[in-house]
Amino acid sequence: MIYFVFASAACNLTCKYCGGTPEDLMMPEKPTYTIEELAKFLETDSDPVIVFYGGEPLINIPFVTGLMKKLEGKAHFVLQSNCTLLYRLPTEYLLKFDCILASIDGRKEIYEDYRQRDGLYDKIMANLKDAVVRGFKGPIVARMACSLSTDIYKDVIYLLHSSDFKFHSVYWQIDCQFDAPMNARWPDFPGWLRDSYLPGLRRLGDEWVRGMKGELEVYDGVKKVEAMEEEEKKKVGSISTVETKEEDVVKEGEHEEKEKEEETREEGEKKECDEKAPITSSSSSSSSSSSSSETTFHPPTVFNIIPFVSVARSILTDTKEKLRCGVGHNAFSIATNGDIIGCPCSNGYDWNHLGHILKNKPEDLPGRLAPQKQCKTCPIKDLCGGRCLYANMTQYWGDEGFDIVCSSVRELIKIVQDAMPTIKEELKKETIDMEPFLFPYARYSLEEIP
Ligand code: SF4
Ligand code: SF4
Repeated sequence: MIYFVFASAACNLTCKYCGGTPEDLMMPEKPTYTIEELAKFLETDSDPVIVFYGGEPLINIPFVTGLMKKLEGKAHFVLQSNCTLLYRLPTEYLLKFDCILASIDGRKEIYEDYRQRDGLYDKIMANLKDAVVRGFKGPIVARMACSLSTDIYKDVIYLLHSSDFKFHSVYWQIDCQFDAPMNARWPDFPGWLRDSYLPGLRRLGDEWVRGMKGELEVYDGVKKVEAMEEEEKKKVGSISTVETKEEDVVKEGEHEEKEKEEETREEGEKKECDEKAPITSSSSSSSSSSSSSETTFHPPTVFNIIPFVSVARSILTDTKEKLRCGVGHNAFSIATNGDIIGCPCSNGYDWNHLGHILKNKPEDLPGRLAPQKQCKTCPIKDLCGGRCLYANMTQYWGDEGFDIVCSSVRELIKIVQDAMPTIKEELKKETIDMEPFLFPYARYSLEEIP
């Protein structure tokens, strides 16, 4: 099973959409149980996947490396991190991760707006490149918060085609139903969904399908996003502003010196890193940039846009999905005080509390949490899986708000269902293969439905 292990409830960033502090999470800042106690609890699980979680897990590297050492050969490891401190993780341990989920919200200005830190984007890119240069060959997945300033089309396209670092794949979670009422933070959530998110999702879906047919033009993604920005500036005057802060990204003082070293190293290693970086998509041959005078196309390619790929996988393999983040059936969270909870974002709710590592065993946990109410009778529940247990149990946006969010899932599933004839035809012609659809996103704790 999957275990979200809070290595630190504290974070070194203060993102606009997040409540990731020990106070918000209602748990001690660092684990108060011992590594031996957690290892003992895990003994009866024959295939544990440890997802280091927070707060920011890399604030507590001694705990991360200590647990990895203790569980060597007995567990698989995944890192969910803002990656500001990735450069500090010793290479020996970096290379033990099966997968890294990097919190990166899309275009640089969107990312830095959400993070409230000017200049942070380039540092994260440098840290990710550094991980590849140090030999990390596993997938590095872009994990997006889709919040008030997100343009889902532009931000996903940016990460797939324009970003300085080539991510293996991209997924996102809509910043919704975490507080009440619906428009407490959103100026107009239904309007954003209708006018921005859903058109963007359809456009992404259209390009995803054309990509599989070999009809997607190869373009310079940076130029494409810049052109989109220009177009928008003409329409609305300006894009969102970026708040800046003078303080350093990392609280500890030594970071500044380390950054200088990184910048120097980055220059020299950029070429090598570009060559080694994981590919963005699952094409059988590589693509090249087009010049302004000629049009070239991607070879038939399944771009790893995880919500599309995951729904297609469910249809292709005829799988009835449960909650896709795994919570309650094969994913559980270990709070810093040793409490076992279901959803890592819902500590403090009675319904989410399942036990304690000193009192329970892994086999006590499955089957005690599942989406209720609307999800139980929903016609697409076997494809959706219930989207988010937190939203389902709290019902913060009421029936109407819940259904507005579900309309985004219905649209996602419709896009993929409409794409199925093309997918099946291309699979039959063997222009694409099943591999991208079978990638184990769920095993790596990804919330496949936004
Ligand atoms: S679409 Fe909505 S109601 Fe249906 S299963 Fe998903 S979250 Fe539940
Ligand atoms: S229930 Fe799942 S999708 Fe919802 S916040 Fe928790 S982990 Fe994320």
